[in-house]
Amino acid sequence: MQPTTASTETIDYKNVSFDKFIGDFKDTLSELFAEYDAKEHHFTERKFPDKMFKSIMDHVPLSVAIPSQYGGRGANPNECMSLLQAASYHSIPLTLIFGINIALFIEPFAKYGSETLKPEIFNKFLTQQHMGGLMITEPAHGSDALNMKTAYTQNEDGSYKIKGTKHWQGLTGLADYWLVAARKQSASGALGRDVDLFMTIDGLPEQHIEVTELYNNNGLYPIPYGKNEIDIQLPESQRLIPETTGIKMLMDTLHRSRLQFPGMAIGFAKRALDEATKYCNERMVRGNSLLQFDQIQNDLVRLESNFTICSSMCYRSSAFTSIEEDLALAGIEANTFKAVVSDIMQESAQILMQLQGGKGYLIKSLGSRAILDSRPFQIFEGPNDMLFTQLAEMMLKKMFKMKEPNLYEFMSNDSLSSYAAELFKENINISLEKGLPQRKLVLLGRTMAKVILAHNVITLGHSGFNAGMVSNCIDQLKTDVANLMNTYQVGTMSMPTETYQESSSWNDLLA
Ligand SMILES: Cc1cc2nc3c(=O)[nH]c(=O)nc-3n(C[C@H](O)[C@H](O)[C@H](O)COP(=O)(O)OP(=O)(O)OC[C@H]3O[C@@H](n4cnc5c(N)ncnc54)[C@H](O)[C@@H]3O)c2cc1C
Repeated sequence: MQPTTASTETIDYKNVSFDKFIGDFKDTLSELFAEYDAKEHHFTERKFPDKMFKSIMDHVPLSVAIPSQYGGRGANPNECMSLLQAASYHSIPLTLIFGINIALFIEPFAKYGSETLKPEIFNKFLTQQHMGGLMITEPAHGSDALNMKTAYTQNEDGSYKIKGTKHWQGLTGLADYWLVAARKQSASGALGRDVDLFMTIDGLPEQHIEVTELYNNNGLYPIPYGKNEIDIQLPESQRLIPETTGIKMLMDTLHRSRLQFPGMAIGFAKRALDEATKYCNERMVRGNSLLQFDQIQNDLVRLESNFTICSSMCYRSSAFTSIEEDLALAGIEANTFKAVVSDIMQESAQILMQLQGGKGYLIKSLGSRAILDSRPFQIFEGPNDMLFTQLAEMMLKKMFKMKEPNLYEFMSNDSLSSYAAELFKENINISLEKGLPQRKLVLLGRTMAKVILAHNVITLGHSGFNAGMVSNCIDQLKTDVANLMNTYQVGTMSMPTETYQESSSWNDLLA
């Protein structure tokens, strides 16, 4: 918990319409960040100023994710993503703090936690600005998280002992509660294949997780990361209860989180578009604004399309990511949304910085900070190359099961891509076979993701979204798919040269 004192000035978050709730919240953020952004030294501080953070939390923003029976606003995905959007317009670290709390603690705990604990824990979120996070990653087990070594045993009285080392947890040393992932250890010492989640209360001495190192993360400055030594004991009621297996519970949780990533991206995507448009209008070069250049207009279209894609994902995710839904099998969309939206954040940051020229390289420029702040979104919750590989594998599995090797035919009939496949026929009308190398699977995954997103953008257009923006966005996606499939067709299978240290110094070769 960042502020040291409990909030006494909590704003009424419950008995107001969502428009009023989010409108007031946005006004506060605009005011606070105008002041924050004016002081450059803030950008490298390891937390938001206490007073500022307390003022933000006085709006009880996390109430959006808490079910109404525990005093929250009802855990409506639309409200959750709108909140993330409002925060990300001003700050990627702030939206990630909310994203961690919402998707990695509150939602899974609300769904799988014990009824005996929820009223008290959620009340602390609502009245004392408490926060929570998720511990999965270990020093030796990151992308292969299911091989984690953190182990638990159960005592005769039903209580659990958990031991292990975790690292890179967002809100390390700051969160009041953690969901800790661990594998069951048998009497022989062997670890079970399933993974369980336990809710820990850091304020209790026997459940306190020791921070043995704080990392010097380069970007996301206000969020503490580090190494956590776990050696704790907790009662039976603090194990989350899966509906079937623990791995399915974990997948449901991670997929819901990945599907809500667009909320954390869309505010930033809009801000990058706003900042770039303003700058390019005002910056005079050769007696005219930067907008005179064709390439600048092309860059602005790219920023605009990134915002349109984010909008289509938020629109879709709002409809099916409530905690009542089981998302354990929603891997195709979850991987698509998370991987593409994190690429979009990075691309928008790069374009914004480039458009602002030398000014863009100042630390006070949003683009320069956003490059570092958004970069790990491509790494955490599944590195993107791994997610694109899995996406291609899941789609190919469906294709081979249906005995349909043609990508265009398959995507024309699949409910996730049917509106869009025709637009990409020229590039995706190919037959696929088993046993493709991973580099080709990644390209295929990227291509499939773009077609799925085009389907979502078309759906958004049918609902009344700006037709010009939809049309621009589809053109961009068509260009992306053409480029990807061209690389797929041409792609070489070069392998790293093991002897790259030998005969590879150009100046030794001078006569
Ligand atoms: C800023 C930040 C926030 C984080 N927040 C959390 C958190 O809140 N909770 C938590 O538990 N963890 C968190 N993590 C940890 C994060 O999830 C891991 O760093 C991530 O899973 C990668 O694991 P690793 O670092 O061990 O990299 P490795 O597993 O060593 O992978 C290194 C790289 O290899 C490549 N790679 C790996 N596997 C594959 C594959 N199958 N196919 C192709 N390429 C592959 C990828 O490029 C990857 O980035 C966070 C990390 C960062 C940087």
